[in-house]
Amino acid sequence: MAGAQQAQSSRPQEVDVVVIGAGFAGLHAVHRFREMGLSLRAFEQGSGVGGTWYWNRYPGASSDSESWVYSFAFSPELEQEWTWSKRFPEQPEILAYLEFAAQRLDLKREFDFDTRVSAARFDENTLGWQVTTEHGETVRSRYLVTAVGCLSAAQLPAIPGRDDFTGEAYHTGQWPHAGVDFGGKRVGVIGTGSSGIQAIPIIAAAATEVVVFQRTPNFSVPARNHALSPKRVAELKQNIREIREACRWTSIGQPYDLRDQAALDRPREEVLAQMEADWQKGGFEWMFGSYNDLLVDPRANDIAADFVRDKIRGIVKDPETARRLIPTGYPIATKRLPLDQGYFETFNRDNVTLVDLRETPIERIVADGVRTSGKTFELDMLVFATGFDALTGPLNRIEIRGRNDQLLREKWSEGPRTYLGVTTAGFPNLFMITGPGSPSVLGNMPTSIEQHVDWIAECMDFVRRQGSSLIEPSADAESQWCAHVKELADGTLFPQVDSWYMGANVPGKPRVFLPYIGGFGTYRQLCSDVAARDYEGFEVR
Ligand code: NAP
Repeated sequence: MAGAQQAQSSRPQEVDVVVIGAGFAGLHAVHRFREMGLSLRAFEQGSGVGGTWYWNRYPGASSDSESWVYSFAFSPELEQEWTWSKRFPEQPEILAYLEFAAQRLDLKREFDFDTRVSAARFDENTLGWQVTTEHGETVRSRYLVTAVGCLSAAQLPAIPGRDDFTGEAYHTGQWPHAGVDFGGKRVGVIGTGSSGIQAIPIIAAAATEVVVFQRTPNFSVPARNHALSPKRVAELKQNIREIREACRWTSIGQPYDLRDQAALDRPREEVLAQMEADWQKGGFEWMFGSYNDLLVDPRANDIAADFVRDKIRGIVKDPETARRLIPTGYPIATKRLPLDQGYFETFNRDNVTLVDLRETPIERIVADGVRTSGKTFELDMLVFATGFDALTGPLNRIEIRGRNDQLLREKWSEGPRTYLGVTTAGFPNLFMITGPGSPSVLGNMPTSIEQHVDWIAECMDFVRRQGSSLIEPSADAESQWCAHVKELADGTLFPQVDSWYMGANVPGKPRVFLPYIGGFGTYRQLCSDVAARDYEGFEVR
């Protein structure tokens, strides 16, 4: 312990840049800035690297991105040395990958782990940041770069009696590192988003009984995960550079893109046959490598939604359970579409009960279970798969103050305001990797992160080459960006729906579509154009 304190106090108190977070974004940023010769400090609240994958250790946790692109693209060495075992990587393997990358690039030594940044204040006199940790240390830096993740602020529901439960209770996003034993237990799962849908089949296979409390039925597409053969691995490694480059320009940063074709322009039988073929392949390609009108025209969306509804009817044996599981009243994929491995099939098991909270709402959590308006379910364990305060939550939980002591969460009280989703007016020299108003969560996160880290690094270099020390977006550029982000979202079906994309899952959160939906490739080009025009929309001095 004395050694740890010694190490901490021997670190510099004044640096070029402070990075918060040691997930994909923080690791990448630290590597990039160090290569540029910048001095830095980096803080991570967890005890190790991994970010999302450090915290989300629930059973079944897996990425919905193909493994070969769910990784760092900046290092051909890492790419060749690491071999993914499956099409969709599972949490232990992703965490092992991030450990491997951190080790290989010698990144861990840059981080203060177990150290939450509690506050950051822009200092008008020094034109830099004062960053304070929960341990009371204050570090001064020219730049502050947040790499705090988009889905890292876990959200527990305000259900009456939540703290009365005397059994074990876990949130999927804060899963115990020692693991959880479901054997012989009656487990209640609240929530049927991606986390619940991934966890429920595995919990059901291990527990005595599982009760799924479903508020909104969810669409889901089969992942069809499988092992990668040595031949496939060799092919991928050989072509990875071209695959990566293609991903950078697609709409969701994946190795496929929307077809240049509308479902409504094609004969219905052809569309259904294509959907069936894609369904058999599994993965997001079914939706996001498909017709280009599915997310903008409700009639096209209905074709896809009905397709999945038929699939659920075909899988779930009990017609009453199938009816309750079938989503209605909102367009498919306007709530984040999960990929599953046997989710709907799980409801054919004798030990699984579905409780439709629209028919029988939860009245309260009691000491030994959950009481709905229908009955009390006695439980030994409760799993909250209830999601996150997305995008703004992780930033707002830090007391970030810009010019005139303005608090970021107050500036954003009616919704986040950013320029390019990476900066915000009144907060000079602050960069938010995958911040609100950037594509971020709408696709492959490492692709988004790479683009932001490179853009930020080049921007800092530009400021340095100007002999300047400050960069800040103008209020005008920010307003125009926010209007553009909104206009694009309004051209889709997304804003009609209560989803975390809209902030609707957090009581009191303003209803604003949070990410940029114009596509990764388009966004990348826009950011490059801004840079090419000497950082148009920014003041540099
Ligand atoms: P989520 O999508 O926000 O789902 C939360 C679930 O909890 C919803 O079913 C919600 O119902 C329910 N819920 C919330 N409050 C409730 C309450 N008071 N009573 C009853 N039910 C309640 O959260 P998530 O599943 O953790 O996923 C969040 C995001 O993280 C995903 O969309 C995805 O982007 C990411 N993620 C990705 C992966 C992956 O790559 N495979 C895996 C997990 C998570 P309503 O729908 O009615 O609000």
